[in-house]
Amino acid sequence: MYDIDTVRGDFPILSREVYGRPLVYLDNAATTQKPRPVVEAIEREYYSVNANVHRGVHYLSQQATELHEAARERVRAFIGARSAAEVIFTRGTTESLNLVAASFGEAFLHEGDEIILTVMEHHSDIVPWQLLRERRGVRLRVVPMTDDGTLDLDAYERLFTPRTRLVCCTHVSNVLGTVNPVRRMAGMAHAHGARFLVDAAQSAPHQRVDVERLGCDFLTFSGHKVYGPTGIGVLYGREELLDRMPPYQGGGEMIARVTFEHTTYERLPYKFEAGTPDYVGSHALAVALDYVEALGLDAIAAHEAALTRHALERLRAVPGLRVYGSAPERGPVIAFNVEGIHPLDLGTLLDRLGIAIRTGHHCAQPLMGRCGVEGMARASFALYNTEAEADALAEGIERVRRMF
Ligand code: PLP
Repeated sequence: MYDIDTVRGDFPILSREVYGRPLVYLDNAATTQKPRPVVEAIEREYYSVNANVHRGVHYLSQQATELHEAARERVRAFIGARSAAEVIFTRGTTESLNLVAASFGEAFLHEGDEIILTVMEHHSDIVPWQLLRERRGVRLRVVPMTDDGTLDLDAYERLFTPRTRLVCCTHVSNVLGTVNPVRRMAGMAHAHGARFLVDAAQSAPHQRVDVERLGCDFLTFSGHKVYGPTGIGVLYGREELLDRMPPYQGGGEMIARVTFEHTTYERLPYKFEAGTPDYVGSHALAVALDYVEALGLDAIAAHEAALTRHALERLRAVPGLRVYGSAPERGPVIAFNVEGIHPLDLGTLLDRLGIAIRTGHHCAQPLMGRCGVEGMARASFALYNTEAEADALAEGIERVRRMF
């Protein structure tokens, strides 16, 4: 049984006030709050285990290394990867995507090769490919969407050419909430001999992401969006691809042997992990994944789906409020605008009522262009949000409307 009061009790920040009002935190797509076990794991590790990993013969180093590698195994199980060698720790989704662009680009892409993106990608899944375009002369092609915020799969099919090498697609849009049919899209990419990358930044916190079931070649997500700490993220890649890709950065940890004439690299996944890793972050991420799995991803998904339905109903009843995106399958993200009110004003005035939402372009300017707006307001829900909070949002918007 999903006991929301017990769940909320695990997140001390949720009981604080802002401007003398109870905090209503609805900016979870940007980052999630941290449950007690995650913060305590960080404190415990710094207070009683801390030592640099992998290179030390001493007790603490070995203990810290064990925690770090156990975290890798935890992530492997979470995403259903075949081997822990396929799990690379990064700083987050953005670094994971830059790694693939640089290293896969170096190994496999040549002038005139094509990469397919979608119109709803986050900037972090656009700009690394543009940088690669400047270096390598690759071409970028973009899957359009229909007015309800669904990717146009017929147009997608038509974008493939014999030069298509890679498709990159967000699993869940951080703006429209659309859940994209990535399994089907990966199948189509493979039929054309292309690789498929899933940006799971907005799906990993809300539903099971199993790399084998999705049939993807790469998958990325960020720890801080899945109730873990900032500064740690994951890149999954198929071993046979990672093996053929060159290192992304050079330094300690990633080498086997260094002379001034020649350097050989460590085996996977260390080849891609130059420098001291965030071993406290990796352990805390594993604790966050334990937390999520103990609640149950299905239970979380059911709670958030009911909450999103309720919020949509309340918001759609607000006069002049327009919700962007109405795809049949959606995550707990609602982007909207209210006629006559700039989203920044709306966000600022809601904030004074204790309600934290996000406003602006949401790092998806091409999508804003497609929707014909400069910016939007966005409420995004997490496993600890309540219907009362969705009601507070709708009532807050009504209140702001009356000021205009
Ligand atoms: N991709 C999507 C879909 C996102 O929503 C985000 C963050 O909002 C990112 C990538 C980038 O994540 P990070 O800033 O943690 O690297």
